[in-house]
Amino acid sequence: MSLAENPEEALRKSEHRYRNLFQAMAASFWELDFFPVGDMLYRLKKSGLAGDFGAYFAEHPEFVRDMMRATRVIDVNDQTVALFGRGDKQELLSSVEPFWPESSTHVFAASVVAGVGGAPNFSTETVLRRIDGREFPALFTVCFPEDTMNKGTQLIGVIDLSDRVAAQEALARMQAEMAHAARVSLLGELAATIAHEVNQPLGAIAANAAAGQRWLARDVPDLDEVRAITGRIAEDAQRAAGIIARVRAMASGAAPEAVLVPVNEVVEDAATFLRHEIRQSGTRLKLALAPDLPTVRADRIQLQQVLVNLALNALQAMAGREAPVLTLRTSGDGDKVVLTVEDNGPGIAADHLPKLFESFFTTRANGMGLGLAIARSIIAQLDGTIAATNRTSGGARFTIVLPVHVSGTPDHTKV
Ligand code: ADP
Repeated sequence: MSLAENPEEALRKSEHRYRNLFQAMAASFWELDFFPVGDMLYRLKKSGLAGDFGAYFAEHPEFVRDMMRATRVIDVNDQTVALFGRGDKQELLSSVEPFWPESSTHVFAASVVAGVGGAPNFSTETVLRRIDGREFPALFTVCFPEDTMNKGTQLIGVIDLSDRVAAQEALARMQAEMAHAARVSLLGELAATIAHEVNQPLGAIAANAAAGQRWLARDVPDLDEVRAITGRIAEDAQRAAGIIARVRAMASGAAPEAVLVPVNEVVEDAATFLRHEIRQSGTRLKLALAPDLPTVRADRIQLQQVLVNLALNALQAMAGREAPVLTLRTSGDGDKVVLTVEDNGPGIAADHLPKLFESFFTTRANGMGLGLAIARSIIAQLDGTIAATNRTSGGARFTIVLPVHVSGTPDHTKV
């Protein structure tokens, strides 16, 4: 304010600046008259309300809707007309009730509680409604500056979060697709293993069937032998079917499902899956599995995928080195289960360690840099952690820590 101006002129200019600002803001702004609400709250208190307002509002959502109906819209800016209206500002200058879907009633109640409690402002994400009935995610902010509060008016700001939410949804979809693509590419890498794994029981079935026929062709057929042999044939067929089922589950991109998983079995499955690679690379496999481990809640295929990824990385890191050793270890640690994958390869350069789990970080010529990023997101979904360190004796160690399933919590839910 310049000294030459009289107070009235200064007030007029200040009001003018405020109106300009109000209009020019990129967000939706509302000026509300909440005086009647103050009156409602006063009468509620007078009528002997025992508890606090918050508890009363929670029990009486109709009262909250009445407060909305009593809150009049004095003015809105152009952004508000664009976001909430159909081009006609007058249409919005009624009560705020139409703009609050039932599901957001508690948010309005919380903002009143904050204002009455003397908070300087209140801000939260919620869902609001356009005049045509369409709902959208919004950041809702309300300020309670003393001077406007005393006048009985209130300033509200609304930012449309549709784009951000849509972007987050697109990102989640992309991550799911990437995880699926990685599963499929992993399958490609493991095609030889699968063929080998299925071939083995098939070979055994063929050999046992031939042996059975020989026992039957004897002058006195040995039915006990035949019975034992057909039992083995059935077991081998089941093994082959199991391998195929696991592969199909991996390829289908089926939604992950959390069940109670015996961790040692998953480690053994992963080792079986990689038997071909392990043998071909001349690697010695060490399994150090703690007995009597408690179960964890996880998607079995996903957990196996994480271990297979880590083990494949270890095999790749040790390629061409003397006496490669891959160690898969499990242990219990209070209410946690710890899984480690260790190798005696070159280890990880210190400046790579912080970036290792980032998407697209790779040091391999034909690497995608997604294996560890996916592993981390899978483990995070299980409320676990995954970390990489270098072993003092040389080589890398990846450690996964998972919370133990506590009985009484649901054991068959979607992750
Ligand atoms: P990719 O295998 O496609 O490169 P990953 O996310 O699986 O993607 O791994 C990222 C990087 O982490 C690898 O390129 C490699 O530099 C490093 N890395 C992973 N595992 C090991 C390991 N066992 N030893 C040394 N470096 C490793």
